[in-house]
Amino acid sequence: MPAPLHPQEDLLLVVDPQPTFMDLCPDELPVPGAEAVIPVINRILAGPIARAVVTQDWHHPRHLSFASQHPGRAPLDQVETPYGPQVLWPDHGVRATPGAAIHSALDQAKVVLVLRKGFRPTIDSYSAFRENDRKTGTGLAEWLRAVGVRRLFIAGITRPYCVDWTAEDAAALGFETWLVEDACARLGPLEALDASRRRLAAAGIHFTTASALI
Ligand SMILES: [Zn+2]
Repeated sequence: MPAPLHPQEDLLLVVDPQPTFMDLCPDELPVPGAEAVIPVINRILAGPIARAVVTQDWHHPRHLSFASQHPGRAPLDQVETPYGPQVLWPDHGVRATPGAAIHSALDQAKVVLVLRKGFRPTIDSYSAFRENDRKTGTGLAEWLRAVGVRRLFIAGITRPYCVDWTAEDAAALGFETWLVEDACARLGPLEALDASRRRLAAAGIHFTTASALI
């Protein structure tokens, strides 16, 4: 159970609440149940949490993570890149398309920053803090420190990818990190989620639910 919320030190980080990851966009990268996390996130935002940041997957139309850019390859294949292995995905989150917008039902009243990630054509970015080369920073950690944030609650789409990578980096960067499990969508087998959850717990990340924040 997290300690009571503090208006300046606490922030809700909402990862990729975009139609491209929902049944609204069946030809992009729909994640089962993803749209259902929006009302859960809105309930948290209606509670005592004072500030939120939203990330937005924002890809070049020929982004390296798209299977369509690798002849003979299919989504979920893995390719080698200069920064290491990269899983391929269907085209999704293409900048300035309807699917890449922030979901229209998300309550943005407390959203003080929208961070676009994955905009470099040749590097993917799961984490909100570092791109997949694990070197290129997004500036988010510095921004959070500048505004006095000490503790992060993380929700959104999708575990164990963008959400879990973001949580892992947040903890490594010194933020007290809580993953709001019922406010997250999941892609892939439960075994992969369990393995990621064990890794996050070992890294000092805490787990909670939306009701604990309301
Ligand atoms: Zn993406």
